[in-house]
Amino acid sequence: MSNSNPLSPNSPVLLTPSLHVDDARKAIAGLVNDLITESRIRNAVGDIELVSLDQAINRILAEDLLSPIDVPAADNSAMDGYAFNGNCLETQDPDITLKVVGTAFAGKPYEGSIGQGECLKIMTGALMPPDCDTVIPQEFTSATSKGDSTIVTFQQSQLKRGENRRLAGEDLQCGKPAISAGRLLRPSDLGLAASLGIAELKVHRKLKVAILSSGDELRPLGQSLDAGSIYDSNRYSLTGLLNRLNLEIIDCGIVQDDPASLKAAFIAAATKADVLISSGGVSAGEADFTKQIMQELGDVGFWKIAMRPGRPMAFGVLKPIAESGAKHRTLFFGLPGNPVAVMVTFYQFVRSALLQLNGASQTEPLLTQAIAQTSIRKKPGRTEFQRAIMERGANGQPTVRITGSQGAGILRSMSEANCFVILNHEQGSVAAGDWVDVALFDGLL
Ligand code: AMP
Ligand code: MG
Repeated sequence: MSNSNPLSPNSPVLLTPSLHVDDARKAIAGLVNDLITESRIRNAVGDIELVSLDQAINRILAEDLLSPIDVPAADNSAMDGYAFNGNCLETQDPDITLKVVGTAFAGKPYEGSIGQGECLKIMTGALMPPDCDTVIPQEFTSATSKGDSTIVTFQQSQLKRGENRRLAGEDLQCGKPAISAGRLLRPSDLGLAASLGIAELKVHRKLKVAILSSGDELRPLGQSLDAGSIYDSNRYSLTGLLNRLNLEIIDCGIVQDDPASLKAAFIAAATKADVLISSGGVSAGEADFTKQIMQELGDVGFWKIAMRPGRPMAFGVLKPIAESGAKHRTLFFGLPGNPVAVMVTFYQFVRSALLQLNGASQTEPLLTQAIAQTSIRKKPGRTEFQRAIMERGANGQPTVRITGSQGAGILRSMSEANCFVILNHEQGSVAAGDWVDVALFDGLL
């Protein structure tokens, strides 16, 4: 880790002019990378577990998965139709007529041979007989009965030799990677592994992520609210966000705004977790004692980020706690307390870092674009994350509309939304009809 990097948590506490979102992201990725390379952090990349497919969703594949077989294992039909030898297409005659000599089903191959002027009724997935190389789909044929046998006729111009046949090894070749290491495993990957006969996958150990909520006003669910107190909702949105990544969550509860409790909670988290995520207590009014504790326990920068919502954020590492015998550092994110800001900063900074620490190759969220239904006011000089609903407009194009009030504490704006509209740092106000960047909350598959 380089001390000359002004964004390094080793540098004096940062209360400099606002930090560009991209610079904050780069600083986080750089520090995580340094910590991993220098083995100064327990990352889950080195520890590999074998898990069954039904447990593997959203885990990160630790080694390339090599296909043990060709897929498909043999040539087979891509359509319901008639298989024949494509020699018969080399004719001037516009109509081809073939006699049906049998039927091949998926899983029930036809054992006989197919001669000149003959064809085989074949179902999708059924093995192609060795003397056939082409399949005419059923809907292009007309069949007539002639005595005991059936004759099919189709136009020669309707297909070329070799069509509608899947070749052995066309999808995957034996010994070649079917899924690359670093993949965040999706349902299709699990299906792919199963199609190869593989029941277990080597994945990186789950990261252990501690979460704590800080604030005297916070109450756990089940308690009544006294004047000025609120329920601790961040714990649940953070738990939901972490569960989506299939990580191990260590719940460190609610911590009062006093240095001794906070210090004890940080020490407890650092002894158990790879990463600690706190919410609250990093805004200007409250950061002073958090900073004081951090100077004892770790190297943490207090950032003022040019973004909305989610301006204050602390980021760095907690040192190993000598008494606990711990050898490794714990990555620390001190997120702002506002419920929407927690989710935005998690999305923007924490998610990628967790994936990186866990060995994922693709850590950046995907963006798309949509047309703003109304104008959106925005000042250049900060990145804004507006909560919005993306839908299909009248002309079929994707559009977005902002969900109601956008205050950083208004969780309903998040709950009703299905995406963020991301207005980048340099951008000014948006006019109705302009294309804007969008990050969808849910991937379909
Ligand atoms: P802070 O960052 O501690 O100044 O908190 C900013 C705002 O977020 C305040 O209104 C807090 O009451 C609120 N807040 C902080 N932590 C939580 C939490 N865990 N759940 C819900 N609201 C919170
Ligand atoms: Mg607070």
